[in-house]
Amino acid sequence: MTRRRWIAEHWDEATATLVGAQAEHLARVLRATPGTEADVVAGGRVFHAEVASVTPAEVRFNLVAEVRADPALPVTLVVAVYKFDRMEWAIEKATELGVAAIAPVIARRTEKHLAQAAGKRAERWRRIAHEAAQQSRRSDVPMVHDPMPLPQYVKATSEAMRIVLAEQERTTTLCSLLGEAQAAAGEEMPVLELAIGPEGGWAPSEEALFDANGWRAASLGPRILRAETAAIAALAVVASCLE
Ligand code: SAH
Repeated sequence: MTRRRWIAEHWDEATATLVGAQAEHLARVLRATPGTEADVVAGGRVFHAEVASVTPAEVRFNLVAEVRADPALPVTLVVAVYKFDRMEWAIEKATELGVAAIAPVIARRTEKHLAQAAGKRAERWRRIAHEAAQQSRRSDVPMVHDPMPLPQYVKATSEAMRIVLAEQERTTTLCSLLGEAQAAAGEEMPVLELAIGPEGGWAPSEEALFDANGWRAASLGPRILRAETAAIAALAVVASCLE
């Protein structure tokens, strides 16, 4: 049986602790006892660990030996805020696929009430990312940025190859841009940003803004995908090309 993996909130050289809901789950549901083995992620490093003490408020592990960690895909997924249930699904699946960071942005066609509520949702999005990272046995948790207006994100400087997924794009495929990015990065993994529009798509002024700031438009094929499908499809293409 594979060992369970936990991502610790607090750690030092030799120990790591889980608190809150995670500790409670280990103590009450899984009935962990001293000596129970698990994998524990502490500060992005993965360890074989053994439970040292258990209460429903805090579980302390002794870190026994470090094991090799798989790096995240060097990709930031930029998602225009849209229906929260679908967006949450996308965050969970993107985490499973290895995304390094998620940047929610407020686009022109983001519904007003969702744009207003987005700031307060970020904590929940982080929790979803944390749980999905643990479940998929990742060694890190994707960073979820606070939501910001799209122009602010688009104009910020970045070392990444910046790609905007757009169903209007007919000629350039994501695959062909990845080929370019790989050629430019040589032995390294190319660093990417992938932007996915809201349900109504990007507004023409946003497409112009992406273009003016050096973003490259890419297609995922001739069919129109829902935003969450586009996010997952794009990450799957990147994962299969780069890993
Ligand atoms: N404007 C569209 C739907 C937008 S789909 C409509 O006719 O209703 C939401 C987002 O998913 C888009 O902004 C784009 O980022 C992405 N997307 C969907 N299908 C795509 C495709 N075939 N190629 C690239 N991106 C796509």
